[in-house]
Amino acid sequence: MRAELIDGKAIAATIRDEVAVEVAALTARGVVPGLTVVLVGDDPASATYVGAKEKASVAAGMHGETIRLPATTTQAELLALVERLNADPAVHGILVQMPLPRHIDPDTVIRHISPDKDVDGFHPVNVGKLLIGHTDGFVSCTPAGVIELLVRSGVDTRGAEAVVVGRSNIVGKPMAALLVQGRAGGDATVTVCHSRTRDLAAHTRRADILIAAIGRAEMITGDMIKPGAVVIDVGMNSVADASRASGRRLCGDVHFESAVQVASKITPVPGGVGPMTIALLLRNTVQAAARTLERASAAVG
Ligand code: NDP
Repeated sequence: MRAELIDGKAIAATIRDEVAVEVAALTARGVVPGLTVVLVGDDPASATYVGAKEKASVAAGMHGETIRLPATTTQAELLALVERLNADPAVHGILVQMPLPRHIDPDTVIRHISPDKDVDGFHPVNVGKLLIGHTDGFVSCTPAGVIELLVRSGVDTRGAEAVVVGRSNIVGKPMAALLVQGRAGGDATVTVCHSRTRDLAAHTRRADILIAAIGRAEMITGDMIKPGAVVIDVGMNSVADASRASGRRLCGDVHFESAVQVASKITPVPGGVGPMTIALLLRNTVQAAARTLERASAAVG
């Protein structure tokens, strides 16, 4: 039996509709949520992502702005811009698009973004809150999107064996931290695998929920998947394909055709995790805006 597809496009559209409702409510209270994206340099893939983020934020009724800086921008100039955005009350969310040019240290930039405006969820304060289980921080958008996919597809994570392949700070580690939390979309028994893992397949074959965030095209094959498992493919890889006019196609870290024969549910690439990342970025920005109102009324009260 072929696995059921988890439709990330449809679930992301639902979240974007929910966000638009919240944006309208905040706007009525005098706060238009604002997201500022900073792009340094002219990497074409980054320019595409940034354009999509601005478009999605404007479509949701927010104020979306992109600041484009030349690749020659110094770290000091970028930090000065971040400080200015930190102080600007019309800016609720700040996102500095990665990767940055090599002469700029990404960790230094991330640490300069106010944790209250860090809608990417990369600041150490927000990472710490995620680990502790506090819900007043921001969670990295891609793993937060995966949890939404699971919850909204009716996947019960409680007590499940969840195996995350990949331990990056933006996907693998926060993914594991979310799955282990004692709340909806959590309570799983989590294993994290990486390039030093011995016998990867022995781990993936135990997984009721398998999450691939590796960056290796079609590396997880059907024989590495437990029959009936839920498979979430975070990977986005561009591979050569002579049958396409462009000569390339996008594929995940999971070999879809063999996996779909074994899994019970699976995300496609494209149309799975990808659309969720922007939807969760918008939701984080709305939360950031809502919290300014909460802080203002707490200060008055
Ligand atoms: P990274 O390259 O930062 O991390 C990849 C991880 O995979 C590392 O932890 C690495 O291990 C592990 N790994 C690499 N090779 C193997 C192997 N042979 N066996 C086991 N583990 C291995 O990637 P990201 O986490 O940033 O991204 C992962 C994928 O997700 C990429 O395809 C990326 O394009 C995609 N992505 C998609 C997004 C979306 O919106 N859909 C958003 C972000 C990422 P080690 O740590 O030991 O090196």
